Amino acid sequence: MPFTLAPLPYDSAALEPHIDAQTMLIHHGKHHQAYVTNLNAALESQLTLQNLPIEGLIADLTKVSDATRTAVRNNGGGHYNHTLFWELMTPGGAREPAGALAAEIDAGFGSGWAWLVRDKSGKLAIESTPNQDSPVMDGKHVVLGCDVWEHAYYLKYQNRRADYLAAWWNVLNWTVAGERSKA
Ligand code: MN
Repeated sequence: MPFTLAPLPYDSAALEPHIDAQTMLIHHGKHHQAYVTNLNAALESQLTLQNLPIEGLIADLTKVSDATRTAVRNNGGGHYNHTLFWELMTPGGAREPAGALAAEIDAGFGSGWAWLVRDKSGKLAIESTPNQDSPVMDGKHVVLGCDVWEHAYYLKYQNRRADYLAAWWNVLNWTVAGERSKA
């Protein structure tokens, strides 16, 4: 089999209580496995494509036969995305970005606001604004916004902005966001 399902990089129960073991077992062992199985089936008669790294395969789907392109898109994408997803989680987490990435994130998403908006065409988009700028100033409709200024979290969370953001989801009023979303 050209593409194979790698074992999870940690025990299926290792992300408890945030992600439960049964979900991990089914998500990895059934869903991800199905993407791999279906990808291999779709590439059965395309030998040269079977030896590509998965990222190389899905980065250029023009190489894939017309008859199998949708199957390779769905299952190759599913294989690549899920492999990345398992690697991006770790028991206990690593809750603050570090090093150069942290600096870039701070520069790009520094103090200010994070938004879920509808743009002028009605499409949902995620964006951030500095200072007290609002997407409304650009003619967009705000569905929800989170204050990511230090004053919103410093007393309790100090520099642990990620902890503040994780906690904020627990108090977000999705009913209000849902109503705003329709407007
Ligand atoms: Mn999934």
